[in-house]
Amino acid sequence: ALTHLDSAHLGELGVPVPRYDRSAVTTGIVHFGVGGFHRAHQAMYLDRLMEQGLALDWGICGVGVMPSDARMRDAMAAQDCLYTLVLKDPDGSWTPKVVGSVVEYLFAPDDAEAVVEKMADPATRVVSLTVTEGGYNFSPVTGEFDAENPAVVADLRPGAVPATVFGLVTEALARRRDRGQAPFTVMSCDNIPGNGHMAQQVFSAFADLRDPELGRWVRAEVSFPNSMVDRITPVTTDDDKAQIAERFGLDDAWPVVCEPFTQWVLEDRFTQGRPPLEEVGVQVVDDVEPYELMKLRLLNASHQALCYLGYLAGFRLVHEVAQDPLFARFLRAYMDDEGTPTLPPVPGMDLEVYKSELIARFSNDAVRDTVARLCAESSDRIPKWLLPVIRTNLAAGRSTRYAAAVVASWARYAEGVDEQGEPIEVVDRLAEELTGIAARQQEEPLAFVANRRLFGDLADEPGFTEPYLAVLGSLHERGARATLESLMGTGS
Ligand code: NAD
Repeated sequence: ALTHLDSAHLGELGVPVPRYDRSAVTTGIVHFGVGGFHRAHQAMYLDRLMEQGLALDWGICGVGVMPSDARMRDAMAAQDCLYTLVLKDPDGSWTPKVVGSVVEYLFAPDDAEAVVEKMADPATRVVSLTVTEGGYNFSPVTGEFDAENPAVVADLRPGAVPATVFGLVTEALARRRDRGQAPFTVMSCDNIPGNGHMAQQVFSAFADLRDPELGRWVRAEVSFPNSMVDRITPVTTDDDKAQIAERFGLDDAWPVVCEPFTQWVLEDRFTQGRPPLEEVGVQVVDDVEPYELMKLRLLNASHQALCYLGYLAGFRLVHEVAQDPLFARFLRAYMDDEGTPTLPPVPGMDLEVYKSELIARFSNDAVRDTVARLCAESSDRIPKWLLPVIRTNLAAGRSTRYAAAVVASWARYAEGVDEQGEPIEVVDRLAEELTGIAARQQEEPLAFVANRRLFGDLADEPGFTEPYLAVLGSLHERGARATLESLMGTGS
């Protein structure tokens, strides 16, 4: 028989559960976007602190803003906010832990006033976010806050009941200011370069639109630390739930599964204090940027290096690509010869170890991350993660052959037809435009990179176009695997 996960049954579960007294935990953090990643990362770090008897005044109140979060509200309510976090090891073992650091959950569409007052409460000293890149509501073209978004327009109407994260957080900040209280710190944990700067920009922009005086106060008084966050957390599947029931006898409506690796590098800019996160392995630093560049140019850029070529070579799961020795050598060559030389010193990190770990993480066949997930929204990713590497290397007179091959593989993938003539579903907000351009490139081989909105003047740089054209031609004539073989010097 399965045991239902809630406070009353904690003593009967055959998996590790909180050993601290959850009734003594008080809320210090309000978190927007309680999804897989928050529960595998930030909430896990708080739970570890609480296991040591620390941070008991830094409990988390989760907040859902989107209608779809009603499902999380119901799961949380039925389980006293408890959930199981399962680490999937490559050796096939699963390590479960019931996490207890989330102690409340509020669903904004049910009661916006309760959400605002929770943040206005002086006990709340941090408001954190994992609301996805789209949640920051900025235009990818101008980089500016999108004030035309109908949800934003509605939240700016006088007397409106706030419904967006901007409306809710800004109303709480206004109340704190009016009551003479110091503001909370706003901590973004989303995967955006300069996530703190981005949060500052969009929250200040919203406050300006509401009241310029409030906007000035937000800019002057609210702290928005940057962070680098890392832990591969795929969407929980029905099979995960079934296996958790079978392996652990546990009935959990919404467990989280993830890889064992985790990293969090955080800027120490908190006006109202913070949990002692360094006690549980968080790197608290003055400047996050080197870590962020390391992650974007090694981890994220390598994801792009493996996904298009991997897809064209017939792979559908990430570990299958990373376990193929030819692909692993290609990834390592990109990282060593092109990614790494563009990085500033990264204090406290051994890049050799980091890169070997990356290949091992990608190879973890328990995680079952998909190639399709990595191929999605390429036009947001390649310009942010890979093109800066190419530009830096061109300026320094270094080779760009591997990164140029990645761009060529994207161009080939964007044709929307695989090497067997089967359609590829290109998931990208620019899919139609990109597929149209890629269709012309047999006759006009530079067409794809001549798109200046994405590539700037890269098409004018022979140091890039020569290797790019060679690989694109080879992909058309001989396919992905043979191309990679000759690039790596193993083919005919
Ligand atoms: P998820 O889909 O499980 O959760 C996303 C949450 O954000 C949901 O609660 C959703 O309702 C909320 N949300 C979405 N749009 C919003 C909006 N406009 N306003 C308010 N809330 C909104 O996704 P996840 O795996 O938890 O990932 C969330 C984010 O975490 C990612 O976008 C990324 O920035 C970061 N991250 C994820 C991973 C990972 O491996 N999953 C790794 C590093 C960083």
